Amino acid sequence: MDLRELAARERIKSDRLEAAVADLAAVGEHGPDRLVDILRSYLPTGDFEMVRRAWRFAAAAHHGQRRKGGGPYFVHPIAVAELVLRLRLDEASVCAGLLHDVVEDCDVTLAEIRERFSDDIAHIVDGVTKLDKIPFARSEEKQAENFRKMLVAMSKDIRVLLIKLCDRLHNMSTLEAMSAPKQKRIAAETMEIYAPLANRLGIGWMKTELEDLCFRYLEPDDYTALKHAVGERKVEREAYIASVVDLLRSELAAADLSDAAVSGRPKHLHGIWRKMQRAGVPYERIHDAQAFRVLTDNTEQCYRALGVVHSRFTPIPGRFKDYIALPKANNYQSLHTTVLGPDNKPIEVQIRTHDMHRIAENGVAAHWRYKERGAAVRPRDEARFTWLKQLLELSKEAPDSDEFLENMRVDLFADEVYTFTPAGDVKVFPRGATPVDFAYAVHTRVGETAVGAKVNGHIVSLDSALRNGDIVDIMTRSDSRPNKGWLSFVRTSRAKTKIRNFVRAAERAQAQELGADRLEKALRRHKISLTRAERHDKLAATLSQFRCQTWEELLIGIGYGKIDARGVVEHLYPETKPAEKPKEADTVAPKRSRKRSEDDAAIVIDGIEDILVRFARCCSPVPGDDVVGFVTRGRGITVHQRHCPRALDSDPMRRLDIAWNRDRGGQARVTVRVHTGNGPGMLEKMSSRFREAGVNIRSVQAKMHGPLSAVSTFEVEVASREQLDRVILDLKRLDFVHKVDRIGG
Ligand code: MN
Repeated sequence: MDLRELAARERIKSDRLEAAVADLAAVGEHGPDRLVDILRSYLPTGDFEMVRRAWRFAAAAHHGQRRKGGGPYFVHPIAVAELVLRLRLDEASVCAGLLHDVVEDCDVTLAEIRERFSDDIAHIVDGVTKLDKIPFARSEEKQAENFRKMLVAMSKDIRVLLIKLCDRLHNMSTLEAMSAPKQKRIAAETMEIYAPLANRLGIGWMKTELEDLCFRYLEPDDYTALKHAVGERKVEREAYIASVVDLLRSELAAADLSDAAVSGRPKHLHGIWRKMQRAGVPYERIHDAQAFRVLTDNTEQCYRALGVVHSRFTPIPGRFKDYIALPKANNYQSLHTTVLGPDNKPIEVQIRTHDMHRIAENGVAAHWRYKERGAAVRPRDEARFTWLKQLLELSKEAPDSDEFLENMRVDLFADEVYTFTPAGDVKVFPRGATPVDFAYAVHTRVGETAVGAKVNGHIVSLDSALRNGDIVDIMTRSDSRPNKGWLSFVRTSRAKTKIRNFVRAAERAQAQELGADRLEKALRRHKISLTRAERHDKLAATLSQFRCQTWEELLIGIGYGKIDARGVVEHLYPETKPAEKPKEADTVAPKRSRKRSEDDAAIVIDGIEDILVRFARCCSPVPGDDVVGFVTRGRGITVHQRHCPRALDSDPMRRLDIAWNRDRGGQARVTVRVHTGNGPGMLEKMSSRFREAGVNIRSVQAKMHGPLSAVSTFEVEVASREQLDRVILDLKRLDFVHKVDRIGG
């Protein structure tokens, strides 16, 4: 397809595109295929057509604009895209590199980018454009502040920052066209902000290239002199490097490490210069101006290679560093050593695996992974963690790091909260998670003995919500135990399950102890020991009579009050049963119970007598509701509605099947809330509805909610669910009533 057809299909002005392509060809740029080929080399399933379209669109958009140093402006976005490719980012990043200046310089809208390309690309271009607008003031204070602002601005997508770094690197490499003051200003800004940032992100090559470019403009005299001095000894140095490389290779091969890749190169100029400054010596006296690198397949080989180097050459004391065991903050890993090389010249040797090298060169970008087919995926989790860790590392250097962290928390990752242990390990939680969730995520034991928490050094309550970037330190005390109340705020199912299990186990243990105690007392009256009872050969029959599987279960049942200890004794030892006294035996539960409380007459409980019944306040069941009973040691039975969350949290072992006693009338208290309009006589009308239904009102509270609405809260006594439902229906029929709620129902 020729250019005209492409332009027509892609809605680009064809004469503009043709002119732009001709202009670019004149400076050696022959279209997008060169970029596509590089992309294909590491992302074979990429969307190459999108890259081509972005190239054409941006070429036409920038047509007519020229760089300061002459030549078509679009050469710059192409160079940025090339650097993006060097970082091996995804195709959206390559397109964004090509398009990064069109919004600012060509009056193209983000909406148009979104429509022509994708949301993702528009979002990255938007981020890069916004970063450009952050003004860097001269004063150091302002620099640091803007630095942080920039970090925050780009923190939502790291690709924005990576493209910005590529943009800056290319601008630095074409800085000679600028005026001298501008060169100095841009170089200083780059040295203070972008080079350290590249370093923080672990992108080694970008850091050294930026530093050397800055050096040239910031210290032009030193730069020229050093470049000259280094150049003068070029032949000599190259011969020396080659001889050392050969020597290292043969030594390693002799030690069975022939696969190791050995290379040597001069250190970058700014690095040498810094060494000279630090030591206060001229270039001639800097001997380890070249670095040698050994790349191996695995860590074990790294240490073996180190052994080879140290046994062949004399190591210089104090110059060995093990960044494999203790990686740098930016995740850099390598062994560094300086030894006396041939001619007794000190040489630095860096030893690392190929994987470590990849990360040393491309840092956070090295974590980019690609799906089997199609687009790149976001950096893997550990890369995100690293990224966040690095930001935190940076924030420690900022004086007002609290404010920085505050900004950082702006929805970094939508539904997740990323937090850290004091040792820097990452723990990810659903939003709203608390220090208790954190404690259980560290270890069950930590959760079970947690007494408090420090977040970012401040003591917080255990139910406070964790936020992104929080460093959480759990305080424990070995004799402390989980609290049942934690169940109401923990978010992770791990914590919930562990707490529930612990609480139940503790309750059961107590109940078992108490049950053993009660049974022992009941047996003692007949001079039988507990151990003897446990060994009774008819125990199995007794257990099944009381619906228990084990002896422990039986004790627990007794402890909870579900099972009567005397009944167990009588079943095991029928001879202990007192002689029948018909009249006394007739004394059945409901009569006795009624004396204790008017509530319990309403409930029938299978096989239980003389026990106190209470209605749970959380769900106020009324006769007719579907209910369950829970035995509470020492406090009788609590009746909940079956769906009540509190009932669901309780130990199933404590559950009792109960039923409403249809024969006996009883009254249950329930709260009814009525939302109404506002007007005279409403309370009277509502009250009469209750009266007509035969429902007793115990109290009423009315509150105005603005001029047009009111809420009345009635505490009433009802005999049944049907009665309650009926009166609620009656209330709803009143024309001023908007809504009727049963509280807890
Ligand atoms: Mn640019």
